[in-house]
Amino acid sequence: MPENLDNLRHSCAHLLAAAVMELWPHAKRTIGPAIENGFYFDFDFGATKISEADFPALEQKMNELLKSWKGFERHELDAQAAKKEYPDNEFKHELIDEFTADGSKVSFYKSGAYWDLCRGGHVEHPRNALKHFKLLSVAGAYWRGNEKNKMLTRIYGTCFPTKKELDAHLHMLEEAKKRDHRKIGQDLDLFTFADEVGPGLPLWKPKGTTIREELETWAKETEKKWGYERVSTPHIAKHTLFEISGHLPYYKDDMYSPMDIDGENYYLKGMNCPHHHMIYKSSPKSYRNLPLRYAEYGMVYRYEQSGTLFGIMRVRALQQNDAHIYCTQEQAEEEFLTVLKLHEYYYNALGLGKEDYYITIGLPDESKRDKYHGDKELWNRAETVMRSAIEKSGIRSVNDVGGAAFYGPKIDFIIRSAVGREFAISTVQLDLYMPTRFNLDYTDQNGNKKLCAVIHRAPLGSHERFIGFLIEHYGGAFPVWLSPVQVALLSVSDQHNDFVLEEARQLKEKGIRVEVDSSSETIGKKIRNAETQKIPYMIVMGEKERTGGDWQVRVRGKRTAKGEIKPATQKIMKKNAFIRRVQKETQKRSA
Ligand SMILES: [Zn+2]
Ligand SMILES: [Zn+2]
Repeated sequence: MPENLDNLRHSCAHLLAAAVMELWPHAKRTIGPAIENGFYFDFDFGATKISEADFPALEQKMNELLKSWKGFERHELDAQAAKKEYPDNEFKHELIDEFTADGSKVSFYKSGAYWDLCRGGHVEHPRNALKHFKLLSVAGAYWRGNEKNKMLTRIYGTCFPTKKELDAHLHMLEEAKKRDHRKIGQDLDLFTFADEVGPGLPLWKPKGTTIREELETWAKETEKKWGYERVSTPHIAKHTLFEISGHLPYYKDDMYSPMDIDGENYYLKGMNCPHHHMIYKSSPKSYRNLPLRYAEYGMVYRYEQSGTLFGIMRVRALQQNDAHIYCTQEQAEEEFLTVLKLHEYYYNALGLGKEDYYITIGLPDESKRDKYHGDKELWNRAETVMRSAIEKSGIRSVNDVGGAAFYGPKIDFIIRSAVGREFAISTVQLDLYMPTRFNLDYTDQNGNKKLCAVIHRAPLGSHERFIGFLIEHYGGAFPVWLSPVQVALLSVSDQHNDFVLEEARQLKEKGIRVEVDSSSETIGKKIRNAETQKIPYMIVMGEKERTGGDWQVRVRGKRTAKGEIKPATQKIMKKNAFIRRVQKETQKRSA
């Protein structure tokens, strides 16, 4: 996100807080950062309940106050003076204590009659810059994201430089809402959650599992062609493995507590890499063996705070389209470039164009160097190789400071759904560090031992996140090859049921996924039901079909560039021609 957009949105958070304090003087302010696509501000409103119904009054007050906001004026206060500004606000006191622990002063920023504790990062001319804002939603949020702390009220909003951009964003949000993957997932019977199983642990129903398996088959076929071999590994491992990898302690917060097996601590895996490294190490390798590419749709388990869980997009158990490439350092750039091309192949096949995806380059935040591990020289070398490959690929890229993994720089592919929302879907990494930890070596032409380079990649992300994206992208109207039900046969009356079931059996034999509606509903209702299920083909079957007549096939409308579905059309087809059409679309994986 460009810095000026961050400043714009954080400035707007000040404006929101100012309006809140005018309307509810007893509310306690806490923090209000810019976030992706907007900002929020957390308040403690005491016993008062705030809802979206309060937004018009709040927005009106914001507009009113904005007239007097000429700039952001910086002031410095010592701890005692700063606390006086917030009598009875334990949240601000906690922050002031932290910021002044070393005896330093804190900064305040004043605009109009409002001022607040703040590190800075604002627009210069708020009166003009903040005109195009909108409050979006209210949610509960724990103070500092900790479930043991008090629940606060979070107000989300957004702000754009121009009205046009704001309107486009609001339109996108509305479209995305209509395609909420949680609702479509339920309507199409794809997945469910159960209290007894636990939050963040999706249960995939038969129709959702069909989509997963189609994706997995596609990945397996593709990876085979691109020179990968498949491996399989267990879901748990002894602590020793994660000590070598450095996941303990660097990644510990994302992992679950260990279980005791025969007096040793075992952990659920949060990543597949350490297991794959052990397969690499299980036999000596020569330069002739490289590159080696191990692929696995591996299940991993990661701790996510309950408040951040979101449908199947953010979960605690996920299955990744994972692979690790072991190559010489000289081969690294070419291998990396090939991985970028593999991403392009997948995304293009799904109908995404070059303008629909780009790369963010995750770099370390130098002010938090203790979060990262390893030799700086290795970091720099990895970054140089990755940048060179990205340049050759011609894929757009932007820098993301603070986005590195704990053991090296990484890149993320961001893809855009048909309604314009962006999803971080896949991470790729050139890793020169794990080979030093695991001693991943090979013998070169001269008989010397050398460390290899490892590339981590997962173009289709996890099934969970990727299918969440596909649901929004297609609005539930999946292409034929991914549709859980490809053909609906609708029986005109009870006396045709046996014949329709027999036709269905024959289609299934040809590998077509078919569903029969033999209920006693009217035919109009049956058609509407099949339409809500977004089934690509439906055929009403009665006397004419039973006596061998051509099939009148109702074909789901084509998808427009914006992802909308055009009205259905009718096609008269011979049975065999219809079967061939569905088979061909499935085999070709037509978008
Ligand atoms: Zn500020
Ligand atoms: Zn990995």
